[in-house]
Order: sequence, then C-alpha cells, then structure tokens
Amino acid sequence: MNEFLPFSRPSIDEATIASVAETLRSGWITSGPKVQEFEKQLSAYFGGRPVRTFNSGTCTMEIALRIAGIGHGDEVITTPISWVATANVILEVGATPVFADVDPVTRNIDLSKVETAITPRTKAIIPVYLAGKPVDMDRLYKIAARHKLRVIEDAAQAIGSTWQGKPIGSFGDFVSFSFQANKNITTSEGGCLVLNNAEEAALAEKYRLQGVTRSGYDGIEVDVLGGKFNMTDIAATIGLGQFAQLNVITEQRHKLARHYFTTLGKDFEAPTGAQLPPADFENTNWHLFQIVLPERITRADFMARMKDKNIGIGYHYAPIHLFKLYRALGFKEGMFPIAERVGRQIISLPMFAAMNESDVERTCVAMCEVLKN
Ligand SMILES: *Cc1c(COP(=O)(O)O)cnc(C)c1O
Repeated sequence: MNEFLPFSRPSIDEATIASVAETLRSGWITSGPKVQEFEKQLSAYFGGRPVRTFNSGTCTMEIALRIAGIGHGDEVITTPISWVATANVILEVGATPVFADVDPVTRNIDLSKVETAITPRTKAIIPVYLAGKPVDMDRLYKIAARHKLRVIEDAAQAIGSTWQGKPIGSFGDFVSFSFQANKNITTSEGGCLVLNNAEEAALAEKYRLQGVTRSGYDGIEVDVLGGKFNMTDIAATIGLGQFAQLNVITEQRHKLARHYFTTLGKDFEAPTGAQLPPADFENTNWHLFQIVLPERITRADFMARMKDKNIGIGYHYAPIHLFKLYRALGFKEGMFPIAERVGRQIISLPMFAAMNESDVERTCVAMCEVLKN
C-alpha cells in the first residue's frame, strides 16, 4: 500500500529551517527586524503599496473593517462559501453580514447577485478568491465605485494569483492574505494586509498592538482600542524563506493542476457526474483543486473510501449561513441554493508543492474507482 497522501502539506526548505534557528539564537524573537524585512519584500512585490503583517489572516480583515470605520448598522456583502472567518469578522466589528450566492462554475461570489444585495446601508464587499481564483476584478471595482463601497479582498488563498498579469494585492482597495500552514506560502500562522496609504498603515499598526503610538525615548500614547495581533520574527523568518520560493511553488501547482486535467481527460465529467474546476492557467495560483461530487454519493462516504485508499481529502467549505450562529440571525436553508449544493458536495483533492505527478495519477485512479461503483 502506498503511504498516506494528505490533501495539503507545507514544504519548508533546509535554508529556512537554518535561518529560523539563527533568529532563535539572535536574542530577538518577537516583532523586529525580520518582520520589517518581510513587510518590505511583500510591499515591493505588491508594487510598493504599504503592507503590514499580523498573526493571522482573520485579524487582517477585522482590522481592515475597523480602518474603514465599519460597525453597527452597516451591511457588508460576502459569500456563503468560505472559511467562517470571512463572515465572523463582520460580526466581530458589530456590522451585519449579507450573503450573495455563488457562481456554480467558479464557486466564487456571483457579482450580479452582489449588485442586487446592495442597500443604502451597504458599506463594503468582502469577495473571496476560492482556490486562489480571482473574481472578475474589473467588474468588482466598477460595482464598488458605482455604489461608493469599500472592498476588503479576502485573498487568503490567492498569494501568487494575478489579474491581467498584475499580482493580486498590487492594485485595488484593502487586500488580505493568510500565511496559515495550508496556504501556498506559510509562516505557520500569520497574515498580511495591503493598504492604500501611510495613514491607513499607521492605523493598522495601532490596531495591531493595543492602540499604542511611541515617540522619543519614553513617549507613549493610546488613542484607539487595539488588540494583540503582531507577527513574531520567528514567523517572519519562515515567511521570508517561503516568499523566496513563491514562483517555484506557484509553477509546481500549475503543473500539478494541468496533470489532473490531463489524467482525468475529457471523459471524466459526463460519466461520473462530477464537476471539475475551471481550467484557469492565467490567473489562479491553484491553491486548491476542487471537485463537486455528484449527488448520488455523500461527501462523507467519498472521503471515507478515499481514506481507505490512503488519500486525504479536504473540505472547503460548509455554507456559512447554515451554521447555528448564523441561523440564529435569521439565515436558513433555501436562501442560497447554489452555495448549499456546492457546500454539500465540494471536496479538495491533494494539492501541494511537494507532490509529484504520480501522486496526481494515484489520486485520479482512486477517485474514478470510488465514483464508478
Ligand atoms: C485561511 C483563510 C482565512 C483565515 O486565515 P487565518 O490565517 O487562518 O486566520 C480566511 N479566509 C479564507 C478564504 C481562508 O482560506
């Protein structure tokens, strides 16, 4: 029997491990020179826009909402198919989440449904780039401009993705990334926020650390309520090592995704009833390779049978509006039918940079066996 193939696994090279040891010995392990260097490199990659790092890709979005002044009485439109963090941050700042159903092909928020969900109380949109695939960015920003809305891009999965040749994050409004362990590049846990100007960046620094501003030798002032969200130099050292590999990682994921399409072939969808992702080799970073299963098999059954064949299957994501916390706010079954169907049957096949083509082939053979009987 082949060894267990997980759906995701980080690859940290020996050079990165050595530099983490160096940081640990340096006498400075919390936010310091490594964080500054990581922010500088990220900013250069994002076309010189200001970037601040944090200890998660969740607090980045919460802080962006706070900087935008969004709170009680404001509505924020987002997708039901995301990690629950995307909607939780809206509740966290006291605002009201409004969901718009997803597109059945891209599984991303449907921008025409965003437009119909806009009310006089709408203040922002949080689009999610599921599996790293951006939405139509031109259309998104046209809608935002027409209705004077802020955009907080949940680009947690989209580092290395592009739009018309430009990196996601190098244009637009607030853009939030996660460096959680499963993402294309990781700091173990962490995230960064791309901002628009020095003023927003200064505010982000305050929200990141108890609202504190320092000056001179002993000057200290607190004028906003901040939290404790700073990234450590240990995490930033991992990030620097990973960031140096971004292009290699993205290319490897493209190669693996292509191999999934070639191995499954043109005659996969019709006989099995399963739905492949859009074959996007221009914009997406292939963070995930997701299949929507046919209704005749339950996801739990599929996952169990793949596990028997020593293959790990991921599940991204349960529809947020059907969680108890959200049902208590009035959301219920039937409100977002496409998200509910996709959320019931979507699975993520193994996809990570250290995989090879035979892992892809083994996964395809196993999946076809499970789907055929
Ligand atoms: C990973 C992820 C987040 C949360 O990031 P953390 O760093 O785990 O806080 C939010 N949204 C999406 C779409 C994600 O994939």
